[in-house]
Amino acid sequence: AVPKVVIVGRPNVGKSSVFNWLAGIRLAIVEDRPGVTRDRVDYLTEHEGRYFELVDTGGIGIQDEDNLTKHIEEQIQTAIDSAAVILFVVDTRAGLMPLDEEVGRRLRDVEVPVLCIANKTDDEKMDVQTSDFYRLGRGKIVPVSTKQNRNRTVLLNMIVERL
Ligand code: GDP
Ligand code: MG
Repeated sequence: AVPKVVIVGRPNVGKSSVFNWLAGIRLAIVEDRPGVTRDRVDYLTEHEGRYFELVDTGGIGIQDEDNLTKHIEEQIQTAIDSAAVILFVVDTRAGLMPLDEEVGRRLRDVEVPVLCIANKTDDEKMDVQTSDFYRLGRGKIVPVSTKQNRNRTVLLNMIVERL
């Protein structure tokens, strides 16, 4: 089977944007506001001759706080059940939020590699702001920007190295 790379994170950090950007095609729907019901999206992706299935778990029926917690549990369960590599997306513009820490806690005992992706790091000057995310205990943080196309190849290399 093709290994799965599953994207997780709280709403609005840019999971669907990361999915589309890495896939090189717009399949996942990018939403300006969280809370819209969308299906999960999978896409077969290739980098340096390595194939993987990119999975966007985000945006599934979040209506209220209870649903949000349940949604994140489901996301992480999907990741734990199927992922070869997990992409844990956070938002540099927003900084570290309690929900990021919650996701981090739930991922703590996961056996597969977890890459912490600091999206919305739109320019070099913002790189320093990503140091907040070391508290999530995931080691190296990868600063990226889907908007500015920062570090796409760096991230793809890191993913395929871990497959
Ligand atoms: P999701 O809920 O985690 O799937 O997030 P989306 O992919 O739907 O994106 C949420 C919002 O963040 C949208 O308004 C995007 O346009 C915005 N966004 C995504 N990536 C970037 C980025 O690299 N920089 C900036 N400034 N905004 C971004
Ligand atoms: Mg989404």
